[in-house]
Amino acid sequence: MAALECVQFTYGSDNYGVLVHDEDSGQTACIDAGDGQAALAALSANGWTLSHLLITHHHGDHTAGLLEIKAATACLVIGPEPLSAAIAGIDVHVSDNSEFEFANRTVSVIHTPGHTTDMMNFHFPDDKLVFTGDTLFSMGCGRLFEGDAAMMLNSMNKLKALPDDTLVYCAHEYTATNAQFALDVDPDNAAVQARASEVTAQRSEGLATVPTLLGLERQTNPFLRTDDANLAASLSLSGSDEVTIFAELRERRNQY
Ligand SMILES: [Zn+2]
Repeated sequence: MAALECVQFTYGSDNYGVLVHDEDSGQTACIDAGDGQAALAALSANGWTLSHLLITHHHGDHTAGLLEIKAATACLVIGPEPLSAAIAGIDVHVSDNSEFEFANRTVSVIHTPGHTTDMMNFHFPDDKLVFTGDTLFSMGCGRLFEGDAAMMLNSMNKLKALPDDTLVYCAHEYTATNAQFALDVDPDNAAVQARASEVTAQRSEGLATVPTLLGLERQTNPFLRTDDANLAASLSLSGSDEVTIFAELRERRNQY
């Protein structure tokens, strides 16, 4: 089985879409559809034909180009069951632990509510890839629009359980601000310091900080480190439960 080829493309002010291509089968998936023209241009630039469109959640910056892409490519559209707002154009609705075939491998769906109720993430276990939408960002997590801290912590813990060498594609380039925030709340963490320096260098050259590795996120992402005693102490929350720590982190990040 040949390795999948992933091509990340930008749209909006800080959004990332991704094309996933399999040379053997010729199949290509696109993750999210916030900008139809950007997705179609990326397909054209690579000479690929879209077979699958995978939608993480209902927000417009992930769905606004869905019908345009579907009309242009006749792709199969896979997305969340309507737990939040309905999304027009979905052919196959998925929920937690749903599985489907893409390019002769199995894709597993991980439901990660919190940012929205309908958030679905797509895990390609054979290829050690996960697409986390607006749930897990590099060194951060999505805002809680439709869920609470307990719900989002549970969702983040599902992603945290994946293997360390899983490559994580998220939907926004927020890492520079997230890194500064992580330095503030986890100041003695050497891994955070190293990653923040790397991020500063990458952004100064206009390079993407995404994708990232789950193992690196476990070391540097405060929202995956609510069980860390040093982080709790820096928040003056030693001995508090993880939901309380997660809620405090999210509130501070909202104000950051
Ligand atoms: Zn969103």
